[in-house]
Amino acid sequence: MQRSDLMEKVVSLCKRRGFIFQSSEIYGGLASAWDYGPLGVELKRNVKSSWWKAVVHDRDDVVGLDASILMHPKVWQASGHAENFHDDLVDCRVCKKRFRADHLENRDCKTKDKCDFTTARAFNLMFKTHLGAVEDEASVTYLRPETAQGIFANFRNVLDSTHKKLPFGIAQIGKSFRNEITPGNYTFRTREFEQMEIEYFTKPEHADECYQQWINQRFQWYLKLGIQEKHLRIRRHGDDELAHYAKGCSDIEYEFPFGWSELEGIANRTDFDLKQHAKFSGVDLQYNDQVEQKKYFPYVIEPSGGVDRATLAFLVDAYHEEEVQERTRVVLKLNHQLAPIKVAVLPLLKKNSEIVEMSKKIKNRLQKKCVCVYDDSAAIGKLYRRQDEIGTMYCVTVDVDSLQDQQITVRERDTMKQERISADQLENYLTEKLTNDSSILN
Ligand code: ATP
Repeated sequence: MQRSDLMEKVVSLCKRRGFIFQSSEIYGGLASAWDYGPLGVELKRNVKSSWWKAVVHDRDDVVGLDASILMHPKVWQASGHAENFHDDLVDCRVCKKRFRADHLENRDCKTKDKCDFTTARAFNLMFKTHLGAVEDEASVTYLRPETAQGIFANFRNVLDSTHKKLPFGIAQIGKSFRNEITPGNYTFRTREFEQMEIEYFTKPEHADECYQQWINQRFQWYLKLGIQEKHLRIRRHGDDELAHYAKGCSDIEYEFPFGWSELEGIANRTDFDLKQHAKFSGVDLQYNDQVEQKKYFPYVIEPSGGVDRATLAFLVDAYHEEEVQERTRVVLKLNHQLAPIKVAVLPLLKKNSEIVEMSKKIKNRLQKKCVCVYDDSAAIGKLYRRQDEIGTMYCVTVDVDSLQDQQITVRERDTMKQERISADQLENYLTEKLTNDSSILN
């Protein structure tokens, strides 16, 4: 399989098997808006839980937050978004399309060389809206373009309620909105998307070291969850690329079939945001360092990733086609933490009521421990193929012999190796197999 064909294959699988659907499809679809179907929602939840576990639950220095999407309009003045959060836009006089001035090379336009562009002008990416029934200037606010500002606005609340000492972080997962000029590449660039962000507050003199540590930790997270190292790299931003608030920024990039593209940015935001919010709100947002007996604004390191982009990268990287007995086997080799379904219980003969009963009993038992399904809607070969395609880790098959010896067959997704084990040992077997990660079965 050519890597250039990969995107089309993943998109087709996602639609066919219920990972991702076009938004409002029955009305002809809404461009660049996507809905996660029954399997997609599980996968995306697993991506978010793995992130939350790694950055909040497995650490002592990060706490969580869930701030609202709508915020006081002054937030966006203080943060600089009202003034600076724009992309340069150009219009083409020939094809009449609009493009991001820095994305002209790969633009989606048939006239290509004949385009005749206007000079670039700034286009603010924030979605404007009105609060309440009166649509006047006073009621204007914005859908947040990043979750980060909800964290800065709550810095004092979190500090006062948790008594955290530096260094510490606040993590948040939530929707953000940007009126992108050229959304595209499936779920990679959309106008509504989900972010996973950490604002990690540290002493200014420790910021550089902390920045490096977060780059390494975040890079490792993608590797641990199965992204192949050859498809992952770190790209440091040049000074001319830095956002208005940043001292340094590095992107973790994935080699998508459409090229190397950003999954996550790790930025040193300095003390810009806290200082700005202190200035605009009049609230003291300095940290009172009791050891050093002084007050100061901490520096902030921000790892900011996209849930949708990470999910897409995991899907693309997991997609494999293999020739098995003269057929093409499609298998999603997702990491066990991410696989939407961990176990499928399949009866070998659906007409045998005892086999069906035993299968359902096993499924009901396992369901209390992990995401598990029962399926008897086709012959066993087809059932295996269906489960491979959606990345199910294990298939458990109950046959006629099982009724006598209480043994079942467990088939592993990647190797297709089958083992016959005692049915009452299944939980132990799976716990051990799932790379000794007992959290999956609790
Ligand atoms: P890009 O250069 O691709 O526009 P960015 O540098 O503006 O991205 P950030 O502001 O650093 O992005 O946002 C942090 C993360 O949020 C990104 O790394 C990405 O994973 C995600 N993200 C940003 N914009 C979008 C979008 N339009 N669609 C999906 N995810 C996005």
